Amino acid sequence: MKAAIFKAKDSITVEERPKPSVKEPTDAIVRVVRACVCGSDLWYYRGITPHPEGSIGHEFIGFVEETGAGVKDIKSGDFVIAPFAYSDGTCANCQAGFQTACVHGGFFGGGNEGEGGQAEYVRVPHADGTLVKVPGSNFSDEMLASLLALTDVMGTGYHAAVSAEVTKGDTVAVVGDGAVGLCAVLSAKMLGAKRIIAMSRHEDRQALAREWGATDIVEDRGEDAVRAVMALTDNVGVDAVLECVGTAEANKTAFAIARAGAIVGRVGVPHDVQIDAMGTFYRNVGMRGGPAPVRAYMDILLPAVLEGRINPGKVFTFTTDLDHIADAYAAMDERRAIKSMLTIG
Ligand SMILES: [Zn+2]
Ligand SMILES: [Zn+2]
Repeated sequence: MKAAIFKAKDSITVEERPKPSVKEPTDAIVRVVRACVCGSDLWYYRGITPHPEGSIGHEFIGFVEETGAGVKDIKSGDFVIAPFAYSDGTCANCQAGFQTACVHGGFFGGGNEGEGGQAEYVRVPHADGTLVKVPGSNFSDEMLASLLALTDVMGTGYHAAVSAEVTKGDTVAVVGDGAVGLCAVLSAKMLGAKRIIAMSRHEDRQALAREWGATDIVEDRGEDAVRAVMALTDNVGVDAVLECVGTAEANKTAFAIARAGAIVGRVGVPHDVQIDAMGTFYRNVGMRGGPAPVRAYMDILLPAVLEGRINPGKVFTFTTDLDHIADAYAAMDERRAIKSMLTIG
């Protein structure tokens, strides 16, 4: 089969690799139909976060081709969404709704053979706990894109909003205008936010943010951004902050614009971030979030997509095939695309 292989900084290729097979009785093999490049893949591509040479990609949807003898709920032929982390669905962490901390779980695309989502086939451990069956099999390209967004970015944006406890009538700020940040805007709207301040300086992203519910756009960064948000909120700050970047500056901004008692819901993987213990203490500012248990939000988000209430697939502004995987990464790296999709098979 063809699989994307991470070689080194700035180098992703496509190579022939053995098609994965069932190793454990709880495995399933999925034939990938759509996959995509994640913002976190760019950290590897840019050489900021280490990644072993090998398989890459953790966002994919497709048809189940084969299941192990211990798989009960998922059947061959099912159309499935694979959340970016696999999980057994039964341990205490899974039961509590934090499948990304499953004691038997892990993440796709970490270099192991047959476990990368940017490939024609993927071995999925704990198929019953991990995979989400989608009713039907004939989906439009638009629907496939939105289903693909449920593997990570939409669930991750939603997790930021849930972690920050966005409720009806809130004023919310979203730090970051990548695919996750835009999905966080959409999620804040779903949860009833009245005013949504999107922090973005790219026209295409601003347009999608507005379409999805942003009422205000702040183009500034750093201290200027803080001043701009404060000016919009009578110098109080916002009721909830959704931090979708992970850099030191984004976190600094996020905590500075939180009003007293607000929660910063963070889903950007922190890179060299320090949280001000004293400042957050005196302002009663909270912090929640982490790797999004997107599996936990499927009951809410999948019907919303299938019924056409949300269309998170709009984040894919560049589409190519697996042979052009290098273009898919470059388009995102150079910010020509919000997010790149791969049509496979
Ligand atoms: Zn991802
Ligand atoms: Zn578990």
